[in-house]
This record gives sequence, C-alpha cells and structure tokens, in this order.
Amino acid sequence: MQLLLASENVHKREELAGMLAPLGVRVLAPHEVGGLPEVVEDQPTFRGNAIKKAQSGARATGHWCLADDSGLEVEILGGAPGVQSARFAGAHGDDAANLRLLLERLDGYEEGDRAARFVCVLALARPDGELAADFRGTVSGRILHEPRGESGFGYDPVFLFTEPDHPQTGRGFAELTAREKGEVSHRGRALGELARRLPELFAADRA
Ligand code: IMP
Repeated sequence: MQLLLASENVHKREELAGMLAPLGVRVLAPHEVGGLPEVVEDQPTFRGNAIKKAQSGARATGHWCLADDSGLEVEILGGAPGVQSARFAGAHGDDAANLRLLLERLDGYEEGDRAARFVCVLALARPDGELAADFRGTVSGRILHEPRGESGFGYDPVFLFTEPDHPQTGRGFAELTAREKGEVSHRGRALGELARRLPELFAADRA
C-alpha cells in the first residue's frame, strides 16, 4: 500500500515512513506525485486544517492522503498560540521570533501559571477524498523562563515535559534525542494511533 503525506517536510516523512515500513506501507512525498495544490490553513482548529489538507491531497491525486496540523496551547493565554503557532510573531516559520514573543507574553508569570501542551492532529483521507479517520495526540508540560537544550525545533527549547512517572519527566524537549521525543510527543502519540488503526482502515476499503 502507498500513502501520500501532504507535506514536503523530510523530517515528518522519515518519522512516518519509519513507523509504517513494518506494515508494508510506502510513504510518498508530494513531489513524487507531481506536486499538490496550495491549501490555505484558515480553519479555527488543528483538526479542521488537517482534514482540509488531507482531502485536498487525496482529491488532487487519487491516493490515500495523510496530513497533519500541530501547535502549542498555553493555558493562561487562552490556548494561544494554537493554530497560529507557526506565525505567532508574524512571518510564517520564524521560530526564534515566535519563541521570543511567547516568553514576552508570559513575562511575570510563575511556574504554576505556565502550563502548556503540544497538540497534533493527523487526518487520513481515502483516495476519493472522504475522511477515513483522524487521530489526536497531546503532550503536557510547562513553558520554561529561558530556552534550554540544542535539539528539536519551534518551541522545543522552552517546553518542559512534566507528565509524571516517566523517565523523561522534568527534561526540556530540546534536551531529548529525536527518539526520546518521539516516544512522548504529540506527533509520536498521534502517529502511534495511526499505525495501530491503519491495517484495519485499508482492509475495510478493500472489502
Ligand atoms: P506544523 O503543524 O508543522 O505547521 O507546525 C506548526 C507550528 O507549531 C510549528 O511551526 C512550531 O512552531 C509548532 N510546533 C509543532 N510541533 C512542534 C514540536 O514538536 N516542537 C516545537 N514546536 C512545534
């Protein structure tokens, strides 16, 4: 089976391909199917944006298509930056500016007021464009006062993993290896759920 990922992000593709290879599923990139139409991510929820991208990709290509949307929700900021995570400070994808703005907004708040979570929604569309399923992964933590660690991307340097009873509890996301992060991250958790359900979804389609 083949599955198109509606993103040219190599890191995301490798992570997905690694999880789906044991199931005999090959992950295709948009450039391997002649590219995908631009999709405006204008929905108010992660789920809405993920579904919009997955359905658009499936309809344009006739492949099973997976899309994701993810971001950071800070409780005391009413869930911001949320769906605006990639463009919180204006320009899309300026991680350093986004991170600075987040720390500014939380200036003066003590540890107990800095609860946050990462959210990832994966949407899977059938070749005809119908939504097959969607999966949501979250991970709880707290926003640090200063960046810590060198790995990861986006808001990782200020995200402290706080879920209890776990070997990584109390470590920053940018202090984890990619494998350690994947075991607890919002994206890793949503991908795990996808991998568990995929055989059944493909089989139902063939029946
Ligand atoms: P997208 O879903 O790839 O568009 O990501 C949206 C934005 O959310 C990214 O630009 C990051 O700012 C943030 N984000 C999503 N996942 C992570 C993560 O695992 N670590 C840090 N930041 C993330």
